[in-house]
Amino acid sequence: MRMISLQSGSNGNCIFVESCGVRLLLDAGLTGDATAKRLAKFGIDVCSIDGVLISHDHVDHVNCAGVLHRKFRLPIWITLKTYERAASQHRLGKFGDLNFFKSGERIIFNNIVVETIPTAHDAVDGVCFVVDDGLSRLGVMMDLGRTKSIASVGQKNYSDSKEELFGVAGGIDLVGSRQRFFSGFDDAGRFSSFVEDYYERVISTLDGLLIESNFDVEMLSVGRYSPQLQSRIRGRGGHLSNLESAKLIEVSGKKLRWACLGHISKENNTHDIVLDTHREILGKNFYLSIASRYDTSEVLEL
Ligand SMILES: [Zn+2]
Ligand SMILES: [Zn+2]
Repeated sequence: MRMISLQSGSNGNCIFVESCGVRLLLDAGLTGDATAKRLAKFGIDVCSIDGVLISHDHVDHVNCAGVLHRKFRLPIWITLKTYERAASQHRLGKFGDLNFFKSGERIIFNNIVVETIPTAHDAVDGVCFVVDDGLSRLGVMMDLGRTKSIASVGQKNYSDSKEELFGVAGGIDLVGSRQRFFSGFDDAGRFSSFVEDYYERVISTLDGLLIESNFDVEMLSVGRYSPQLQSRIRGRGGHLSNLESAKLIEVSGKKLRWACLGHISKENNTHDIVLDTHREILGKNFYLSIASRYDTSEVLEL
């Protein structure tokens, strides 16, 4: 499996993932031309993409879904609620047939399974994604917002919370069904683990992770954003700070071979601060990469 971030940030998101001959784009926040050009840098024809999956209705994720669909005839996967909200708020243009999925469902492309995992972010029906090809699992976890366990970063010692992670949680005994429960899905293929630490549970199953590391707490609090916007970003439906992202990886990313950090704020963050914060918590030996707001990332493989 390989992943390339074509761009990541509030100015537009689009992530390329390929495995077993299946090529997907996660989100459609770049123009059609930019999407085609950035893929072409890696010898990839945009018309060879098998599907575009939309995470949520915010403009930086959905804006060019219509263009990709009409111009390059790419099939779109989206939830009905996300489509309705996005179509009412942004100029998406006309679509032919859309492929509707329900938040929490798995979408199957030949040998690839894409798990769609509900997020706490302030979209109408947001999800993040895990791509599983049977050999490895890649998480693309952007625009997450906070679960209760993340909101307690700084008050709680994460290294003491292993009991909660690996013991009994939410009234469900994990012993014997760890893999199934950790992936978050029940037998019917529906996302089932709506417990406060479900991001941690998902990440604990992953081999590679693209995750948001949106803001530096200090820069946000002294920056020029209004108090209302600051509290939206810090709130349940907002974004993860560098510290929250690093702590999530620290507590749950034992299997991870690498992490790529994205959706980095232009106003309230820098690449150096992102990397310093993560290195401080994760150590110098853990492989970190950056998904830029302006260009493609390196090719990350599993
Ligand atoms: Zn976003
Ligand atoms: Zn968003």
